[in-house]
Amino acid sequence: MQNQMDLQRFEEQHHLPPFSDFKALKKEGTRIITHANGHMIYDSEGHAILDAMAGLWCVNVGYGRDELVNAATEQMQKLPYYNSFFKTSNEPVAKLSAKLATIAQEHLNHVIYANSGSEANDTIIRLVRHYWALKGHPEKRVIIGREYGYHGSTIMAASMGGIKAMHEQSASEADFEHIRSPYGFLYQGNQTEAQFAERSAILLKEKILDVGADKIAAFIAEPVQGAGGVIIPPDGYFEHIQKICNEFEILFIVDEVITGFGRTGNWFASQTMDLKPDVVTLAKGLTSGYMPMSAVLVSDRIAEHLINEGGEFYHGFTYSGHPVSAAVALANLELIETEGLIEHVRDITAPYLANAIKQLDSHPLVGETRSFGLLACIELVKHKSGPVLFEPVGEVGKLCRDQAIKGGLMVRAVRDGMILSPPLSFQTRDIDMTVEKLKQALDATDSELKK
Ligand SMILES: *Cc1c(COP(=O)(O)O)cnc(C)c1O
Repeated sequence: MQNQMDLQRFEEQHHLPPFSDFKALKKEGTRIITHANGHMIYDSEGHAILDAMAGLWCVNVGYGRDELVNAATEQMQKLPYYNSFFKTSNEPVAKLSAKLATIAQEHLNHVIYANSGSEANDTIIRLVRHYWALKGHPEKRVIIGREYGYHGSTIMAASMGGIKAMHEQSASEADFEHIRSPYGFLYQGNQTEAQFAERSAILLKEKILDVGADKIAAFIAEPVQGAGGVIIPPDGYFEHIQKICNEFEILFIVDEVITGFGRTGNWFASQTMDLKPDVVTLAKGLTSGYMPMSAVLVSDRIAEHLINEGGEFYHGFTYSGHPVSAAVALANLELIETEGLIEHVRDITAPYLANAIKQLDSHPLVGETRSFGLLACIELVKHKSGPVLFEPVGEVGKLCRDQAIKGGLMVRAVRDGMILSPPLSFQTRDIDMTVEKLKQALDATDSELKK
């Protein structure tokens, strides 16, 4: 085995990892994760860390699951690769497509594969524009997204998303518009939940009227905005949104990359929230992150139109419908089912988590705690009354996250919010430990700030 010093040096001299400030990183060094099991990850310096982020919102069944490893091994031996271009496919993909149609809502029965959430969303952009062109409306091209929306990192997906820093680095293609997100912590003020829901949704109508419905292809939303900071919409928000989409004949795209595969107590958050999407983005939990794979669920209405009209859809990737990824996805879905992980989330851990994080409300640094299914955010504030936020935004969040990791808990910071998205196999004792370690991290952060 390479020794620790070598690995650090290789990293420092040769690796430019995602979403990093390279200058800061080269100074501070990288943590090298060597192995993982259950809910624990281990680094090359011997630290054991409880993974309350499920990797990057994706390791839904936890680490070290032989069922997934065996599925990959067997498929690699049988057929490690073949493409799905030119009228070919493979066994796991055929089975997975039927399985996804079974677990998805009734009107979603068609699947297009890709390898990442970003690619799936790029696929959707092309698909919805192609759909409207076939309908005789090639001018319907604009897609409306939301502030703090995250739909991936390719130029198109980032343009569709609402992360300003990404737009500034050359990811702001034309034909994307954004509206404010229903972020209660910042914007609700003293409106009731119903008022806030309606007023947040009306922003979509105003945007449509401004741009012109005849130019708009679709509206896209994550049911709960993940990377934007676990932003949970007020009750009724999506009901208004869907009415507006229907009224103006705009397709509704639901990005379930994080919320899919059990995280909200159903297979999909569209079921939990009663959404009726035309197109759905899936990735992350599809394979629990064991292999890269993403999928686009396409409604019967759209698929039937594409099939009836005919003509080639010029789109796809070398690894679209990869047999090994599909075999792992099938094993993953089977495991979620046989272990009853969705019911476990719905009946036990989601309500337990919602209750457990309330213990943090009284901490002097905490402005709000909120959760939906197994997604949670603890907002840190300078003063509780107001609340008054920290300036500049993000530094205290990072400090607190680093304290948590030092204490053996992997969480993520978004602005000054501490984010949790644990594996679905988390037990109540894991939640207790998470909250305990968060308390310690908050206290440590508080003392650092007082220095
Ligand atoms: C992670 C994520 C994506 C992008 O997926 P990648 O596999 O990183 O390209 C898209 N949408 C949402 C909601 C995500 O959380």
